Amino acid sequence: MSDKDSRIEDFGDKIIDGKKIAAFIESSLKEKIDYLKNNGIVPCIYVILIGDNPASVIYVRNKENAANRCGIMSKKIVLPVNISENELLNKINELNDDSLVHGILVQLPIPPHIDENKIMEAISSNKDVDGFHPFNEGKIFTGNSSFYPCTPFGIVKMLDYSNIELKGKNVVIIGQSIIVGKPLSIMLMNRNATVSALNIYTNNIRCWTNMADILISATGKAHLINESFVKDGCVVVDVGIAKLDGKICGDVDFDSVIKKVSKITPVPGGVGPVTVAVLMENTVNAALQFLSNS
Ligand code: NAD
Repeated sequence: MSDKDSRIEDFGDKIIDGKKIAAFIESSLKEKIDYLKNNGIVPCIYVILIGDNPASVIYVRNKENAANRCGIMSKKIVLPVNISENELLNKINELNDDSLVHGILVQLPIPPHIDENKIMEAISSNKDVDGFHPFNEGKIFTGNSSFYPCTPFGIVKMLDYSNIELKGKNVVIIGQSIIVGKPLSIMLMNRNATVSALNIYTNNIRCWTNMADILISATGKAHLINESFVKDGCVVVDVGIAKLDGKICGDVDFDSVIKKVSKITPVPGGVGPVTVAVLMENTVNAALQFLSNS
């Protein structure tokens, strides 16, 4: 597999460059951040990391780096893996009550002895910059949520940025998680796409994927998708993050599908950086909402 830079060089017109789009989103926040600072507010996000899962440590570091680039204050709380649910809830409540904190994120996955739903519900819906509070998730249906989940929102932004029409398109999403597939399905329906959402029990997924104008894969199964899954001219969004022969890769076998697709997001350098940029945008918007309510 060729690395990301040579892909951009070789297939530039086909690549949806996540790093470039993330940089655009981050730079477009500058005006809002300056406005907040002129009003005495530094947007602030707290990230809670439980344990030392290596992937989570990297994701949290990426978020801290993005916050530093944007001029957002970023604080990390590292808790032991055996922390009790009550202790975690107390910590979240402290942050909910702190008027200097605008965004709270608990890095997933969390240890199995803690009820993830309870934690998501405990975060104030006004500080829910990950967009996983049921109140904000519910508002996706009406298209007026204050905080859309970062990965699905990032994917919609990437398609918009690339001038890819959604209305009337057959969109096939592989994966139905609460983090990606489910909210993304609704967000794309809100844009009048015809959406099919597949899961591990779907029979013959090729039947579905071969009809896709836009194929979005979020399974975490390395190179699940090859050229036999895509029709000519398809737009492919690869959300998956996996490892093959020690290298990061996505759900999509890039080298196999590149001949057929009209556009594709690479891994790495695709959906990941945009997800982080959207988190920054949600944090800035949380701070703006705080200012307008105070
Ligand atoms: P998940 O395990 O919660 O859900 C996976 C979904 O894929 C399930 O609905 C499952 O039924 C489906 N699935 C699995 N194998 C399948 C198969 N062979 N055929 C059809 N469906 C299949 O995972 P998740 O949290 O949604 O994450 C999915 C992937 O996306 C992971 O690799 C994760 O690391 C990545 N991810 C990336 C970002 C990012 O910012 N780039 C953000 C979130 C998740």
